[in-house]
Amino acid sequence: MNIVYLTTEAVPFAKTGGLADVCGTLPSVVAAAGHRCGIIMPAFQSIHNAGLEIEQTDVTFAIQMRRDKRVTGRLLRSHLPCGTVPVYFVEQPDYFDRPGLYGDVDGDYHDNAERFIFFSRAAIEIMKRFNATVDVVQCNDWQSALVPALLRAGAAEVEAAPGTESLMDESQSSIIEFAPDAAGRAMGPQASESSDHGKTSGTSEPTISSKTPTILSIHNLAYQGGFPSDQFPLTGLSWSRFRSESFEFYGGLNFLKTGVVTADQVCTVSPNYAREIKTPVHGCGLDPILRGLGDRVSGIINGIDTSIWNPETDPNLVQNFTIENWQDGKVANKLALQAEMGLPQDAEVPMLGLVGRLADQKGWDLIVPVIRQHLTQQRPTQWVVLGSGNPEIERELKWLAGQYDHQLAVHIGFSDALAHRIEASSDLFLMPSRYEPCGLNQLYSLRYGTVCVVTATGGLADTIVNTTPATLQSGTATGFHMKAHDVASLDESIGDALRMRYHAPENWKKIVETGMTRDWSWRKSAAQYIDLYARTISLKT
Ligand code: ADP
Repeated sequence: MNIVYLTTEAVPFAKTGGLADVCGTLPSVVAAAGHRCGIIMPAFQSIHNAGLEIEQTDVTFAIQMRRDKRVTGRLLRSHLPCGTVPVYFVEQPDYFDRPGLYGDVDGDYHDNAERFIFFSRAAIEIMKRFNATVDVVQCNDWQSALVPALLRAGAAEVEAAPGTESLMDESQSSIIEFAPDAAGRAMGPQASESSDHGKTSGTSEPTISSKTPTILSIHNLAYQGGFPSDQFPLTGLSWSRFRSESFEFYGGLNFLKTGVVTADQVCTVSPNYAREIKTPVHGCGLDPILRGLGDRVSGIINGIDTSIWNPETDPNLVQNFTIENWQDGKVANKLALQAEMGLPQDAEVPMLGLVGRLADQKGWDLIVPVIRQHLTQQRPTQWVVLGSGNPEIERELKWLAGQYDHQLAVHIGFSDALAHRIEASSDLFLMPSRYEPCGLNQLYSLRYGTVCVVTATGGLADTIVNTTPATLQSGTATGFHMKAHDVASLDESIGDALRMRYHAPENWKKIVETGMTRDWSWRKSAAQYIDLYARTISLKT
């Protein structure tokens, strides 16, 4: 299959959260299984810090965003570190050459609707220039969720109404290599002659059309891309499409809702979250629509990149470790992290780690009071927190760290290396999320021998097996589920975990080692995505 991923994030080019880990890894695993994959994403400022060469191409395009505003862009090209997946960047400096992906300290960028409509329309123009038929398009989150509707409305086949046309510069070469095949050969005209799906440039068969199968992958339903309806004309479509193609939601333009209704399949990042988003509690207003889709909504758990997240080889650690020597390895890393973060060096004190966006979703309203209790009551714990986001939470954490600097270290910012070290050094990792589509840090924790306390929601419930007498006995326990989503339950679960750590070390060893042996690599999940792609194609043809 020829599969195109439309995304705003992919490791190592741009990242704010789990979407980047997924789009930076899944396509390479799917490509390794013999399919041709390509990624299209915006040329954000951060792509130039990825340590990979970014090639200029001679492909430019111009899109009529408004009657009096024609916006040009250029295609840049690189590849994922695996070398087998090309990454195409939509370069448009006014829209994308900014410090943040979606916003800055003042909040979301005011022109996000325009930025991502441009991205979506440009992506369609780029796919028209591929040298092979696109068999399936996977859109990711709201930023590319309009693409199924744009395709359905004929954006790939016909130019829009006069004055709103969208086109590539016809003077340029039309071939964009889709992707190398499994043997590493780029799929040019020669290779495509023998391919069932291949399309040699110059034939009349379109590479993309209103019939191209589409999947919308939802990494977080809470972010929907809702905008006033006056942004709709930026799509280049006539107003009659606003309702007929489902762009409209409560009078406004809602990117994600449009995608949910118009994509052939909706997929989310864990089976449990796929069920939860059909309920009023987690449906964020879209639950009636999602319920109506029945089995067109599915859930596939995210995998992790086990070459990057591997305590045996991780270059960020002072001492690598395996299941054979994790106790020594974790202590060595703990002592080093204590020194790095200015905490007293103590091998015995339990270290509790937190890494994540400082957003309400992640349960900081429970975490901050629990930290405060531990500090003010001088309980023997050490805390290491890494995150950025909500300035109020940042302020509160920094203030506490200033008052109790021997017990709490806070790093505000984004640091991949520090995230690795916290995973390796901590005894306990906390994820008391209000909701969690999949969650990746609990998967990293399992691999790094760090026991998690989690809310039993979304992917956390799918991946962390609660410790009970029965699960301990069966050897399946890997962590602790909070009884309820409140401060007392978080504190209670931390207490349960630490009691086991210090008073039942054999049980602790068992849950650590059970977690370390669980396979959360992309192997199984990628196979499920490949099934989904095949199913989506067969349902459409
Ligand atoms: P979400 O996508 O909701 O933010 P996930 O758990 O799915 O949450 O993925 C978050 C990813 O981002 C993980 O890889 C995590 O380690 C990383 N991450 C989040 N915040 C930071 C940070 N401040 N520094 C480094 N990595 C971070």
